[in-house]
Amino acid sequence: MINIPKGTKDVLPELSYKWRFIENAARETAEIFNINEVRTPVFEHTELFLRGVGETTDVVNKEMYTFEDKGGRSITLKPEGTAGVVRMFIENGLASTPMPLKTYYITPCFRYERPQAGRLREFHQFGVEVFGAKSAETDAEIIFAASTFLNKLGVSKTELQINSIGCRICRAEYNKALKDYFRPHLEKMCATCRARFDKNPLRMLDCKEEDCKKITANAPKILDYLCGDCKTHFEKVKRLLTAQGVKYVVNPRIVRGLDYYTKTVFEFISTDIGAQGAVCAGGRYDNLVEELGGAALPAIGFAAGIERLLLLMENTGASFPAAQKPLIYVAGMDDITRAKAFEIVAELRLNGINAEADLMERSVKAQLKYADKSGAHYVAVIGGNELAANTVNIKNMAEGTQTAVNLNEIYSYLKEEKK
Ligand code: ATP
Ligand code: MG
Repeated sequence: MINIPKGTKDVLPELSYKWRFIENAARETAEIFNINEVRTPVFEHTELFLRGVGETTDVVNKEMYTFEDKGGRSITLKPEGTAGVVRMFIENGLASTPMPLKTYYITPCFRYERPQAGRLREFHQFGVEVFGAKSAETDAEIIFAASTFLNKLGVSKTELQINSIGCRICRAEYNKALKDYFRPHLEKMCATCRARFDKNPLRMLDCKEEDCKKITANAPKILDYLCGDCKTHFEKVKRLLTAQGVKYVVNPRIVRGLDYYTKTVFEFISTDIGAQGAVCAGGRYDNLVEELGGAALPAIGFAAGIERLLLLMENTGASFPAAQKPLIYVAGMDDITRAKAFEIVAELRLNGINAEADLMERSVKAQLKYADKSGAHYVAVIGGNELAANTVNIKNMAEGTQTAVNLNEIYSYLKEEKK
């Protein structure tokens, strides 16, 4: 017996309707905001993530699924969705298409993490990336799209936390202030923090070690170091969110786990699924397209973790639409009537009806038992008498009522009933 790899999950047939519900909500949201789907490979050249996600991040340092392919290339399974979409954007010259370009994807992601509830090695993201627009309206629109998506799922108990982590100019000032603050504490901090001190002190704020967290608690706050442009931008984003009726709190401690972010960053956090509370997160990344070899072009995006949303919805008793069930099960008694049942079911299917007949060569009794278990709304049993009279009783399982229907008119009957 070979088991499923650690940190991965099967989606079983009786649960896939929940996934489809979330995916449909994602696609419906994208449609309302006029965002087009894109699909990029599950694997990319490792270099893309080293440069895109950033070498000082946990994702790149510890979590990537990297291997050499048979041609000796270093390949990595995508740990997140943004870098691949940015590569696609640059490689296909999409900067010359009308801006803004709004894209979305639903993709598996792979990170070698310690599996816990809401933390897997293969997980799935619904992500949105918007290219070419630097306005605060864009930030507000993207956050509104994320919030619309969560509302469609009935996930209301999340808190939107926002922050600004500035641009290259104010970040340089802030990094200096951070280094001045951390320098006297450096000896008491973990090895990762010490390594980040030189390369990327902002990352130190993201450390999960208790001792480091105590020290970072009193570190200078980025919001006090924003340049005029970044400050104005952030103020406007906040005003627009309020105007859209989107509630938020400012959390100056959010820095996000990937290096490419600039200006606005945000997370939708739930307290109902334990420590892994971020169900949706994103931000602006105005330098990434250029850093990956494209034009200097602003961009912004978010990604929502589908497994975490599912967990949150299950924990909070959110309602899912019902799983699919046969509208009708048509049973037969012998070879001739079974053939008739099969014919009727084929006809119904041609008309778009979820109909079932026996595939297991079962007795009528066993067929009816199966029909009941499958949750069929109607059941019809065709025997010799029914065939001779060209009429069958269609039983409404929920109400226990029966209606005699001409064998040639089952579809019209069901169509009327469905109304
Ligand atoms: P965390 O702080 O929880 O590790 P992150 O900052 O690494 O999250 P992002 O890279 O922003 O996460 O990914 C976007 C979303 O994808 C997260 O908000 C979360 O919902 C989901 N996600 C991230 N990592 C995992 C994982 N290992 N398993 C399941 N979902 C994940
Ligand atoms: Mg992480």
